[in-house]
Amino acid sequence: MQEKWSELRKRLAQVYHLQHASAVLGWDQETYMPPRGAGARAEQLAVVNKITHESFTAPEIGRLLAALHDHVAKLPYDSDDAALVRVTQRDYDKLRRVPPELIEEISRESSLALEAWKRARPGSDFRIFQPHLERMVELKIQQANYLGYPERIYDALLDQYEPGITTHQVVAIFQDLKKDLVPLVKAISAKLDRVDDACLYGEYDEQKQWEFGVQVIKQFGYDFEGGRQDRTAHPFTTRLGWGDVRITTRVDKYFFNTAFFSTTHECGHALYDMNLPETLGGTPLADGASLGVHESQSRLWENLVGRSRDFWGYYYPRLQAVFPAILRDVTAAEFYRAVNRVKPSFIRVEADEVTYNLHIMLRFELENDLLERKVKVAEVPEAWNAKAQAYLGATPPNDAQGCLQDIHWAFGDFGYFPTYSLGNLLSVQFFEQAKRAVPAIPAQIARGEFAGLRDWLRENIHRHGRKFTLDELARRVTGEPLNAKPYVAYLRSKYGEIYGV
Ligand code: ZN
Repeated sequence: MQEKWSELRKRLAQVYHLQHASAVLGWDQETYMPPRGAGARAEQLAVVNKITHESFTAPEIGRLLAALHDHVAKLPYDSDDAALVRVTQRDYDKLRRVPPELIEEISRESSLALEAWKRARPGSDFRIFQPHLERMVELKIQQANYLGYPERIYDALLDQYEPGITTHQVVAIFQDLKKDLVPLVKAISAKLDRVDDACLYGEYDEQKQWEFGVQVIKQFGYDFEGGRQDRTAHPFTTRLGWGDVRITTRVDKYFFNTAFFSTTHECGHALYDMNLPETLGGTPLADGASLGVHESQSRLWENLVGRSRDFWGYYYPRLQAVFPAILRDVTAAEFYRAVNRVKPSFIRVEADEVTYNLHIMLRFELENDLLERKVKVAEVPEAWNAKAQAYLGATPPNDAQGCLQDIHWAFGDFGYFPTYSLGNLLSVQFFEQAKRAVPAIPAQIARGEFAGLRDWLRENIHRHGRKFTLDELARRVTGEPLNAKPYVAYLRSKYGEIYGV
């Protein structure tokens, strides 16, 4: 038996290292690779990803899992060994259904689509991206058909990012949210002038913005000995190996929120990865539970901490000292209200907490329509704009601020967007639970101390890696399933006070 365990772990470790090698190539592609390197990089990524796929789906892994199955059946559900076999089997079954040639094709196409997206976005020219998106939609439909699905084609792709969650569940949660959000947005919309955020649009020196963000995330616990931060068009977090969790951000000289909140957001992701226990290293368990759970961590640090009154009570005087010319006559209370201003905007990553989920509903519905062939790729700009008008009350002036704003479709990440909304809901469920368990957390945040919160997150969420699904983790940590109630209550209380609604 011991031999089988060590053989399985040896094979899984090889996959783990290959995945990180691929992450290095991907990180470089996004940060420092010159444009003409794109063709070769696409080939390199395709080859590495193909070998990774072949290593993980080798029949020998299936035989080892089968041999160990009875042994772990007697172990507790949350034991490392039982979880390793359960989660590896789940991944294995899923990947075995898709031919490696298709995975390779998607990888290659995504590199080309990414370059096309980068060219299309600045000039807002959807036609440059369109043929790549058409190809990608066809490839994703093929992939979904290989994976199989119980009800909607979307289920197959959603399940890759959020195991156990169905399209049906997401539709139900969005209906719940809509019911409460739409009246709230309406009530706030009548009082938009109660909050002035002009102070966020001064000339903010880019280097000083960068340094301020670094100072804050170091306090949050981001370890620059085990990571680094670089600039990219679209911020992300990536783990390149044990002890190497990198984040990227973008900086806007004339808008404070862009760099600061993307930095705190990505830091939240990074803390999750940095706090995974080393005992799970080299296995499929050494990762976040799911994308939704990962997003709960980034939103928690970005919004529940970074947009709180407690946080700015401590940090605002420090920010004022860095940008005295812009902020001299702005009070901490005014600044807190400014960073929480509700304003229907076109760009998802800059959306406020109240309207954010409307951006996700738009994409979720459009993706379903593309996969079910109810909308053609050529019709995407028009369909996007119609939904933006319906949900956000305005039509984007161009595709760069509409359907070209996100990188996800270039990567073939269909089924991914709902995880953002699930993460929003879960972030509040977790944060409320953390405050029940450690009532000093708000007072600590008001003193610029974050260890209490960080330790609670590590103990209750991070240390489990991928042992539990989103729903299992929600029930285990909060005693309740994933639901929209705490999120809606949080929005009502916070924005009710700010807008007097
Ligand atoms: Zn995120």
